[in-house]
Amino acid sequence: MATVLAVKNLVVNYGAVQALKGIDVELGEHDIVAVLGANGAGKTTLLKSISRIQTIKGGTIEFKGKDLVATPAFRLAGLGISHVPEGRHVFATLTTEENLNLGAYGVRNMPAGKELQKTKEWIFGLFPILKERRKQFAGTLSGGEQQMLAIGRGLISKPHVLLLDEPSLGLAPIIVQEIFRVIRQIHEEEGVSILLVEQNARKALGVARYGYILELGKIAIEGDACDLKNDERVRAAYLGGSKVIF
Ligand code: ATP
Repeated sequence: MATVLAVKNLVVNYGAVQALKGIDVELGEHDIVAVLGANGAGKTTLLKSISRIQTIKGGTIEFKGKDLVATPAFRLAGLGISHVPEGRHVFATLTTEENLNLGAYGVRNMPAGKELQKTKEWIFGLFPILKERRKQFAGTLSGGEQQMLAIGRGLISKPHVLLLDEPSLGLAPIIVQEIFRVIRQIHEEEGVSILLVEQNARKALGVARYGYILELGKIAIEGDACDLKNDERVRAAYLGGSKVIF
């Protein structure tokens, strides 16, 4: 499998705190890779570093063999990388549809006109509730609907790579099912490669090919998702403060 995203020896400091202590992570073409770990392990810092909103201390980040470290964050969507941040961050006083449109705003080579309309219909097909809510202010949507909107906004630029930060956080099990169904669908139907940060280890390893377990800024364990599911250390690990039972 060809590598599409390669992070090597990544080091990130917040003042005296070393959040990432030299980690290597790879995502292939048409791939899903899970990054798991407890609160504060460094998962969000990894995604922010890739999307260039976080300054790094050392290491390299390559996308399709090209260095990303010198690339400003606003160029990422145009290159084919979308970041759906933890906490959704939808624009509450804009409608669902306006939030989707914003995902394509000001980005080079973005869909416009009929193409944008077609992409929106694809997203409405993935999340039919967003179509029903298209004229509704995003601030009035439920938490699950806001998460769907955040993912939809990330998909409007038709990314090659999707960085998903805790998409299931705080959502009811039925909504979590829905989110994971869509993760599978965009991967299978559109071939989007997904780097998935999750605390829901069971769900994440259920869709991923490969997984990394971060502990205090280091990769503690990595391997094929199937092997990780059966790994005693992973089974016994406390991820996100709760014992993981597969
Ligand atoms: P969570 O699931 O809670 O988001 P995480 O695995 O994503 O956790 P990060 O948010 O990447 O972890 O944080 C890694 C470490 O860096 C933690 O010790 C955290 O307290 C620290 N940290 C994160 N952001 C900052 C910041 N802006 N300033 C100082 N320290 C920070």
